[in-house]
Amino acid sequence: MSTDKLTAVVSAKGAARWAAGHPWIYRSDVLDAPRGEPGIVRVGDRRGAFLGQALYSPRSEIRLRLLTTEDAPIDVAWWAGRIGAAAGRRTGIDATAWRVVHAEGDGLPSLVIDRYGPYVVAQLLSAGLEAVRSDVIAAIRTVLSPEGILLRNDTAIRRHEGLPLETSTVLGSVPEEIEVTEHTVRYLAGVQHGQKTGAFLDQRDNRASIASLTRAGGRALDLFTYHGSFALHLARRAGSVMAVDQSPEALARGSRNAALNGLTNIAWREANAFDFLRSLERAREQFDAVVLDPPAFAKTRESVPRARAGYKEINLRAMRLLAPDGVLLTCSCSYHVHRADFMDMLTDAARDSGRRLELVRLTGAAADHPEVLTIPETAYLKGAILRALD
Ligand code: SAH
Repeated sequence: MSTDKLTAVVSAKGAARWAAGHPWIYRSDVLDAPRGEPGIVRVGDRRGAFLGQALYSPRSEIRLRLLTTEDAPIDVAWWAGRIGAAAGRRTGIDATAWRVVHAEGDGLPSLVIDRYGPYVVAQLLSAGLEAVRSDVIAAIRTVLSPEGILLRNDTAIRRHEGLPLETSTVLGSVPEEIEVTEHTVRYLAGVQHGQKTGAFLDQRDNRASIASLTRAGGRALDLFTYHGSFALHLARRAGSVMAVDQSPEALARGSRNAALNGLTNIAWREANAFDFLRSLERAREQFDAVVLDPPAFAKTRESVPRARAGYKEINLRAMRLLAPDGVLLTCSCSYHVHRADFMDMLTDAARDSGRRLELVRLTGAAADHPEVLTIPETAYLKGAILRALD
């Protein structure tokens, strides 16, 4: 047991959160803390008992993020141990890109590490973590031996931490796009400027699932296609695919991705998905498979009711577009919309759609994005596969 001074003191309520398996302690539960610098702090309760070591973010509502309840130094070897353990849990992934570290889901709060072939694209999403950046990067190099490391620290949540939004290469050189093979489909991920770290790796297995349930030679619709990842899988099986997104840059990469696979049966449409669905419904179009993978409609708890209405609208219309026996993969990546709310919304939409829908299966993020039961934020992606029975 170290005799080092405690550097942050938390309330009983704060301590209870850690005891209940959640790593975050909010500002209001931190009674005393170093005023100035972000970094790693030793945390205790009011009576002076040591509770653990945490990342400290002096400007964030999420003030402390638990790293360990042990009192040993957190150095490069410690980070390498945690990253190595997470990497070791990634088995049986049929792809050349995957998430090696899923932040809280892997006991490494605010740290995302994605592997794209020989490269690593990482995100440091808290001020406490940013303060120990050189140790984290050294650990990534030790464990993953990448040819290049790109930090995509340009995501808006860094603003809550008082951190700048920036992209930087901290090892080697990382290309603009990296080719990924996923369940035998090839696509280019835009690691430097694309969404997230360049691709939506969390949907990998859902793409293969919905493609396998699609009628061979049938007609498929991929809404919110981004650079076509679902469309490419669907196009292997369907006769034709319509892929819709409002971003022309994403669609341009989508069409290059189709060429990479020798696929000529995808029609790319730049449109607002809400309007597009309405016009398809009006024209009484029918599809054997529909994918709905919208962005998070609920960015805050307050926006949940409006988001629910948006989800219901697109789901209701998608249900009406299904041919008999047609399948729908529908998702929500808003973590404020919990699985029960999502299912409730789907039931509501099904009732209004006039269709009888079988729940083929519930789904979520691929297993390299682990969900921890006591950390609801790790369960952000919910999905369901439905089939029209009549
Ligand atoms: N299905 C994709 C990821 C989708 S991300 C994949 O598996 O890779 C969400 C996408 O929705 C983004 O590409 C964004 O440009 C698009 N988008 C957001 N709002 C939209 C709208 N109202 N209409 C059409 N596309 C929209």
